Amino acid sequence: MGKHGLIVDLDNTLMGFRQTELCEDHLAWCERAHERGFRMVMVSNNFTERVTGIARQLRIPCIPNALKPLPFGVMRAVRMLELPRERIAVVGDQLFTDVLSGKLCGLYTILTEPIEAKDFPITKVFRYFERLMLPERGGS
Ligand SMILES: [Mg+2]
Repeated sequence: MGKHGLIVDLDNTLMGFRQTELCEDHLAWCERAHERGFRMVMVSNNFTERVTGIARQLRIPCIPNALKPLPFGVMRAVRMLELPRERIAVVGDQLFTDVLSGKLCGLYTILTEPIEAKDFPITKVFRYFERLMLPERGGS
C-alpha cells in the first residue's frame, strides 16, 4: 500500500490494558516492521511512565498523554516521521480515539480488535458508541 510510517496506539493495540510487558508476538511484529524499514511512533493517551518504558523497549519514539481524539499528538507524530501523510497509517483499537484522531489528520487508519475486553472507565463509554457504529463489535 506504499505505507512507510506507522503511528501505533499502545493499550489494547500492542499490549493488553492490564499487561506490564509486551508479548513475544508483538515484539516480533515490531521487529519485522523495523527490518522492513517502517518508521514508527507510539501515540498513547496513557501516562508517560508506562508509554516511555514500552517505547524504549521497542526502540521507537513516543508521545504519551496524547489526548486522542484531539489531533495534536498525531500531528506531532506525523512531523516526527518526516513522511508525506499518504505514506502513514494510524493503527489502534478504538474508533473514537485512534481512528478519529487519524482521520482528523487526513491519515489512513487501521482499526484492530482490542487485545482484551478490560478497558479504562472512559473507554467503556467510547466502546458503547463503537458498538452502535460497528455491528461486528457486538452492536445491533
Ligand atoms: Mg487503545
